[in-house]
Amino acid sequence: MSTVTRTRFAPSPTGFIHLGNIRSALYPWAFARSTGGAFILRIEDTDVERSSQAAVDVIIEGMRWLGLDYDEGPVYQMQRMDRYKAVLAELQAAGQVYPCYMSVAELDVLREQQMADKLKPRYDGTWRPEPGKTLPPMPEGVLPVLRFKNPQGGAVVWDDKVKGRIEISNDELDDLVIARPDGTPTYNFCVVVDDMDMGITHVIRGDDHVNNTPRQINIFRALGKDVPVYAHLPTVLNEQGEKMSKRSGAKAVTQYAKEGYLPDAMVNYLARLGWSHGDDEIFSREQFLQWFNLDHLGKSAAQFDEAKLRWVNAQHMKAMADDKLAELVVPFLNAHAQTSFDAARRVAACALLKDRCSTLVELAEWMDVLVSEEPVSAEDIKAHVPAEIAPPVARLAELLAHCEWSKAGIAAVIKQVLGEAGLKMPQLAMPVRVLVAGRPQTPSLDALLSLMDRANVISRLGRLKSA
Ligand code: GLU
Repeated sequence: MSTVTRTRFAPSPTGFIHLGNIRSALYPWAFARSTGGAFILRIEDTDVERSSQAAVDVIIEGMRWLGLDYDEGPVYQMQRMDRYKAVLAELQAAGQVYPCYMSVAELDVLREQQMADKLKPRYDGTWRPEPGKTLPPMPEGVLPVLRFKNPQGGAVVWDDKVKGRIEISNDELDDLVIARPDGTPTYNFCVVVDDMDMGITHVIRGDDHVNNTPRQINIFRALGKDVPVYAHLPTVLNEQGEKMSKRSGAKAVTQYAKEGYLPDAMVNYLARLGWSHGDDEIFSREQFLQWFNLDHLGKSAAQFDEAKLRWVNAQHMKAMADDKLAELVVPFLNAHAQTSFDAARRVAACALLKDRCSTLVELAEWMDVLVSEEPVSAEDIKAHVPAEIAPPVARLAELLAHCEWSKAGIAAVIKQVLGEAGLKMPQLAMPVRVLVAGRPQTPSLDALLSLMDRANVISRLGRLKSA
C-alpha cells in the first residue's frame, strides 16, 4: 500500500530564523514536493513569553522568498489547546497517564540524592499506580502534574534516515510530565498530537530533538498510532565552527534577500549544506526536486561558508536569463538609476555585467555607475590618469560626440585615437575607465560606453581638464 507523504516544518517563533533553521524547512518541503506529498507549516508558539508575531512574520516571509510553499497552515499550536486536552483526557481514560503530587522541593531532594549516588537524575515513579501498590497519601491543596506511563523494560528502536538505527532502553526514560498543574499540555505531547492529527509520515528536523524522539514514539504507541519515519539533521555550524545562532552573529534569512541573493541560489546552497547528489554543486530548483531523497543526507555537521554562498549565487546569476535578471535587479538600483534605464538598456547592462557580480547588490552598484552623474574624485584622477593623456582623451571626446553610438561605432573611434596618438589600448583605456566609471577595471570599454549616455560620457571625459 502506498502512503502519500506528509511532512512539516515546525519552527518555534522565539527568535529570528537563520539559515540553519530554514534548512529544516527546505528538506521536508523538498521531500514532499519530490514525492507528490503535502508540506505543512506548524508554528510551535506554546512558549508564550518568548514567541512573537514578528518572528512568525520573518518565518513566513523567509519561506515565501525561498519559494518553500506549504499546502496547509500555518497551524498555531496555541489554537489547538482544546484538542491537546481532549487527547490527554483519552489517554487518562485509558490509564496511560497518572497524577503526580511530588512537589518541586521533593523532586530537588530526589535529584540531589541520585546525583550523590552517581545515578542519572530521573523521576522515581513514586506516584505511578501499579497493581498491589499503595500510593502515598494525597497532599492537601496541591495540584498534580500528569505523567505519562512510559513502558517499563524493552527499548525504543527506530531507523533514523540520517543517523541509522537508534535504540534507547525504556529504563533510560522516566515518566514524562505531559500536563502542568494548570492542565496545559507540555511540549512533547503537543508535538505528538500534531504529528498524529496532521498525518505526518516523515519527521525531518534538527538533531537537537533526537532525545525527544523515544519519548514521542512511546506516546504515539500509547495512542495506538503508527510512528512516522524520522530523519534528524545534523547542526549547521557558523564560519567559526560554533552552532549557528543569533548570538553568534547569524543573520535572519530575510537579510540575504536584502543582500541580493537569488532564492534559487540560496536553495541550491542550503540543499548542499547537508545533502549531496554526487559531486554536483550547482543545480536548479527543478533538478534539486528531481534528485532529493532522504538517502543522501549528510551525517556530520555542515559549516556555513559565505564565500561559497557568494560563488553559488554568482553561478546562478550567470546562468539566469538577462531579462529575468533585469527585473530582479530593479529594487536594488538607486532612485536615479531606476528612472534612467529603459527596459532594453537594463537587459543589455545585465548581460554585460552579470559575469563580474556575485549578488544583485553588486550588479545594481555597477548599473548605477553606468548612469551616475557624480564626479569622479580628484584623488582617483590623480592616481590613475597621467597628465599627458589629456590630449588623446580630449580627442576621444571630440570623436565620440559624432560617432555612431554603438559598440562597433565606439570601438572604431577608440582605434582611431590609439592610432593617432601612438598609444596602446591599456594606456588609454585605464584612464578613460576611471574617468567614466570611477574604477580602473570594467568590461570592455566599447561595450561599457555604449551602455552609457553619450552626453554623460563626454562630460565625464571633459572633467580631466578641470581636475
Ligand atoms: N519547534 C521545534 C524547533 O523549532 C521543532 C520541533 C519539531 O520539529 O519536532 O526546534
